[in-house]
Amino acid sequence: MNVLSEKTNERLKALKNSYLKTLPGRYNLLKKIAVDIIENDSSTAKLSELKLNIHKIAGSAATFGLTVLTETARDFEQLIGGIISSGTIVTPPIKKEIVELLKQIREICANPAQFITEEDDSISLTDISDQHEQKKIIFVLGEHDLISKDLSEQLGYFGYTVQIVNNFSSLKEHMEEANNELLIMNTNIIENKPMTAAAVKKIKDSSGRNLSIIFFSDKDNFKIRLECVRAGGDDFFTIPLDVSRLIDRVDSLTNDENTNPYHILIIDDDLEQVSYYALVLQQAGMITSVASDPKKVLDIMSEAKPDLILMDMYMPDCDGPDLAAIIRQQEAFVSIPIVFLSFESNKEIQLEALRLGGDDFLTKPIKPDYLISSVTSKAERNRTLRYFMERDSLTGLLNHVNLKEALYNEVLRSERTGAKLCFAMIDLDHFKLVNDEHGHMTGDRVLKSLSRLLQDRLRRTDIIGRYGGEEFAVILLNTDVENAHQIMDKIRESFSQIRQISSESDFYVTFSCGIAAFPQIKNASELNAAADQALYKAKETGRNRIVNAVSLLKS
Ligand code: GH3
Ligand code: MG
Ligand code: MG
Repeated sequence: MNVLSEKTNERLKALKNSYLKTLPGRYNLLKKIAVDIIENDSSTAKLSELKLNIHKIAGSAATFGLTVLTETARDFEQLIGGIISSGTIVTPPIKKEIVELLKQIREICANPAQFITEEDDSISLTDISDQHEQKKIIFVLGEHDLISKDLSEQLGYFGYTVQIVNNFSSLKEHMEEANNELLIMNTNIIENKPMTAAAVKKIKDSSGRNLSIIFFSDKDNFKIRLECVRAGGDDFFTIPLDVSRLIDRVDSLTNDENTNPYHILIIDDDLEQVSYYALVLQQAGMITSVASDPKKVLDIMSEAKPDLILMDMYMPDCDGPDLAAIIRQQEAFVSIPIVFLSFESNKEIQLEALRLGGDDFLTKPIKPDYLISSVTSKAERNRTLRYFMERDSLTGLLNHVNLKEALYNEVLRSERTGAKLCFAMIDLDHFKLVNDEHGHMTGDRVLKSLSRLLQDRLRRTDIIGRYGGEEFAVILLNTDVENAHQIMDKIRESFSQIRQISSESDFYVTFSCGIAAFPQIKNASELNAAADQALYKAKETGRNRIVNAVSLLKS
C-alpha cells in the first residue's frame, strides 16, 4: 500500500468515526418520534416519518461495518411499514415491540464500536490515482513483420509511441509501466484458438478498463468478428488498413475525452453517507458534486453538467423516483443516467423507481469496487451516446445545434467574467467544383483535413463545429479580434498549402472566413449574423481571405 492510499484510508476511518458519533443523535430522533406515536399521534404521516428515519439508519450502518444495527433497523422498518400498509392501529402488543426494538438500537448506538463486525478493509481501496500521469503507448502484438512495422511507422507520424511485443508475457510486463494503452493485433493470433482468445480477454479485464483492443484481419466474416468481440475487441479492421479511419479510431480510444474524469452528482440527505461515496468515487479518479437538498438539484446540474447521478431513494420533501421524474422532464437531462443507491430491497419498489426514470438500482451496503465499476460503465456509455448525439459523424466536430448552444453559453459566461470572445465562420471556396471534378468521397476527405487542421491549430479550450455542408465555425475564447484574425489567417494559409490527393490529380483548396467579436457585438445571434455577413464579404472580395465584422460595421 502506498502513501496516498494510506491517506485515503485514514480519511475513510475518520469518516467512519464521525458517522459513529452521529448514532446517539439518530437514536434520540427515533425515540422522540416513537414516543409521540405511542403516546398521542399514530397517524400515517407520523409513522412514515419514523420509517424514513429508521430506513436511513438501516442504509448507512452497514456501509460503516455495523451490520447488526442494519439488521435490527430492517426488522423495525418492516414492522412500521406493515402497520402503514395494512392500516392497523398501534395496539399495545405492537407498542411493546416498538419499545423492544428501540431498546436494541439504543444499546448499539450507545457503544457502536463494540458492534462493528466487518473487517476494516471493507472500506479500504487500492489507490489508482497516481497512475494518471503515465504515458500513452500503443502495443502491437505480433512478429516484427511488415504490417506491424508499417503500422508503427504510420501511428508514429501522429505522435503515438508504438511498441511491438512478441508474446503475452512481454505484453503484460510492458503494460505495467503504461496507462491507457491500446493493443493492436492480428486476428490470426486468436483465430480458432479459444484459449488464446480467453487469455486476451483476461488481460483486458485485469487492466481495469484501461486497455482497448483493435483487431485487424485479412478476412471479414461474422465468425471472426464474433471471436474478436469475445476476446474483448473494441474495433475490427480489414487489411489493407484504412489508415485514416484507423487513426480516427486510435484517437478516439486514447482520446482525453475518455480519460477526462467522470463527474458524478450524489444526491443524498445523509452527510456521512455522501462523504463516504464521494471519497470512494474520487479515489477512483472521478469528480463529485453533492446535492443534499432536492430543490437545488436542477440548478446544480446546469452548473456541474454531471455524467451520472447517484441518488438516494428516500429523502425529506421529495423521494428519489419523483426527483428522477422531474429531472427527466428537462430536455437537457433526458439521457443522463440516474442510479439509485438505497437500502430498499423490495423488488417492486425498485422496479417502480426504474420505471419512473432510473437506470439502475444498487443496494446498500455496496462494496467500493462494485460501486466504482457500475458507475464507470454507465458514465462511459452515456459519454459515448452524448458524443454521437452532439457531433457530426464525418468530422467528429460539434454539430450545428450544439455549436450554437455553445456560442450562446460562452457569450453569457463572457458577460459574467468580462472576457473577450470571437466567433469565426469558415466556408470552403468553390467546393462544388471539388466534388464535381474529384468526386464526393474526395470532397469528404478535404472536409476532414480541414477539421483536423482546426483541431491541431486551435487551443483545446476553443470550440470547433461543423456548421453545415462545407461550412465550419469556431469560438475562440479569451481572444480579441486582432488575435483571432492572425490565428485564422495562419490556418487559412496552411490549409491552402495542403496537397489534397485524388486518383486523377492532386489539387489545393482554400477557404474564406468572417470573424465577429464580443463585446463589440453584443449577443450570440448578432455575432452569428455579423460573422455570416463578414464571410459573405470575404467571398465577394475574392475568397481565400479573412474579413472582420467589426471593420465591416465601421466602414
Ligand atoms: P463558394 O466559394 O461560393 O462557397 O462556392 P461553393 O461551391 O463552395 O458553394 P456552394 O454553396 O455552391 O456549394 C457547396 C458545395 O458543398 C455543394 C455541396 O455538394 C458540397 N457539400 C456540402 N456538404 C458536403 C459533404 O458533406 N461532403 C461533400 N463531399 N460535399 C459537400
Ligand atoms: Mg456554403
Ligand atoms: Mg463554399
